[in-house]
Amino acid sequence: MELERTLIVLKPDAVARGLIGEVLTRFERAGIKLIGAKMREMDSDFTRQHYFDLEERHGAAVYAATAAFMQQGPVLAVVAEGVDVIANVRRLVGTTYPNQAAPGTIRGDFAHQSKDYSVAHNLAVANLLHASGSVDEAKYEVELWFNPADLFDYPAAADRYAVSTSDR
Ligand code: ADP
Repeated sequence: MELERTLIVLKPDAVARGLIGEVLTRFERAGIKLIGAKMREMDSDFTRQHYFDLEERHGAAVYAATAAFMQQGPVLAVVAEGVDVIANVRRLVGTTYPNQAAPGTIRGDFAHQSKDYSVAHNLAVANLLHASGSVDEAKYEVELWFNPADLFDYPAAADRYAVSTSDR
């Protein structure tokens, strides 16, 4: 098994609600190693590059609402690295629609918005976070958001217990 990298984006609702520390703590306390971070605003071109298949998957109305939401304010992008980190981050984040996300997950603990309400009112589902969904998506997204020089290699304390020396 190889180490994976994944992109996490704290969306404008998480930043505006002052949840950056709380959210990053969730990952750090699970022993997930963060290797890069930056705040930025997303313009319409960059939003399209990031969510290039969202319109195809969910339709034009969901794309438009989500793009407007993502451009409401700055976001914080973070790269995490570790064993099965793509699935592990998604497990901590919880499922897409916060009203269905399990308590204990970030979306389940800090949001409650439903898909039905969002669709009825032409709103994006404000669900605090984006996290890459697959190895291919993670590779594309990490390269889209970060220069290699902005990702850091350092010995994290938790690596000592959880990562084989041959992978460090
Ligand atoms: P996830 O972010 O959990 O991987 P998707 O990639 O399917 O989920 O959707 C991307 C984002 O688009 C969601 O996180 C959410 O903010 C928004 N979204 C998805 N479905 C809807 C919907 N039916 N109505 C409004 N917004 C939606």
